[in-house]
Amino acid sequence: MPELPEVETIRRQLAPRLVGCSVTEAWAFPSAKFDQAPAAIGSQVVEVRRRGKYLLVDLRRDGGPTAGDRTAGDRTVGGPAHEGVHDRPATSELVVHLGMTGRLAVHEGRGDVVDHHPHLRAWWSLDDGRVLTFHDTRRFGRIAVVPAGRYDALPTLAALGPEPDDEAFTGEHLRRSVNAGRRRIKTALLSQRPVAGVGNIYADEALWRAGVDPRARRLTRAGADRLRDAVREVLREGIDHGGTTLRDYVDADGATGTNQHRLDCYGRAGQECHRCGTTLRGAVLDARSTTWCPTCQPR
Ligand SMILES: [Zn+2]
Repeated sequence: MPELPEVETIRRQLAPRLVGCSVTEAWAFPSAKFDQAPAAIGSQVVEVRRRGKYLLVDLRRDGGPTAGDRTAGDRTVGGPAHEGVHDRPATSELVVHLGMTGRLAVHEGRGDVVDHHPHLRAWWSLDDGRVLTFHDTRRFGRIAVVPAGRYDALPTLAALGPEPDDEAFTGEHLRRSVNAGRRRIKTALLSQRPVAGVGNIYADEALWRAGVDPRARRLTRAGADRLRDAVREVLREGIDHGGTTLRDYVDADGATGTNQHRLDCYGRAGQECHRCGTTLRGAVLDARSTTWCPTCQPR
C-alpha cells in the first residue's frame, strides 16, 4: 500500500505536469468512491500538495471558456508550471487516496487511454490535450472533490496528525498521543493520529531503527524521541529512493521504487537482524503483519 514516500514521489512528478492546466472533461467509474471526479471539470490546477497519504490537487474555478487570466500558447506540454498560478487561491480540492493499488499517470494524448480499461476508475482531460488517469485494481482507493480545506466528508483526512517534518511532530507529542490511546505503539502509528503518512512498512522500519517494541502500549521519553527521529529518517530515505515497491506500487511514470532493497525489518521475519544477528520475529498484531527484533526492540 502506498505510504507517504510513495505518494510524495508521485506528487513531485505530477505537480510540474498539472499546475496551470484546466480540466475540460472527466469520467468516473460508477461507484461512490470515484464518482466525484467530474466535479473538477471547469477548474484550473493551482497546486499539487500532499497530506499524509492523500494527494491534494488544489483547484480554482475557471472564469469561463474565454475569461480567466491565462493566455493561449504560453505553456508548452509538460513544460514548467504556469507563472502566477500559485498566487491564486484554490476554491476546491481534488482529493485522491491511492488505497492499495491506485495508480495515477499523465498521458500525452487521449489515444486509447480513455477506452475503458477494466481497472480504469477515472480520467480527466486537460486543456492541452493530455489526460490524467487513475487506475485501481482492488478499488480501495478514493476520489473526492471538496470545497478548499473542507474535509468533513473525509474524516480520516480531517483527523490526521502532524506531518513528520512539521515542527509540531515532537517526541513529546508522539509520547502523549501514543500513551493517551492505550493502544499498541504500532497500531497507534497506523492510525495516522500521532503522525501522518506512516503505514505498515515504514512503521516496522521506524520501530526497528528506534529500538521500540511494536507491542508496547507506552512510550518512554527517550523511546519517543528516538522513534520521532526514526520516523522522519525512514520516510525521508523512502522518498530519496523513489518509494518502496513490494507488489503494485509504481510512480507516475510507471517506474518501481528502489527502497525495497534497503529494508531492515519489514517482511524479514525469520531472517537475521541486520544490527545484532538475532532471528527477527513475525506476528499479526491488531490484524497487521508485524516484524521486530526481540533483542534490539526489548519489551
Ligand atoms: Zn537486532
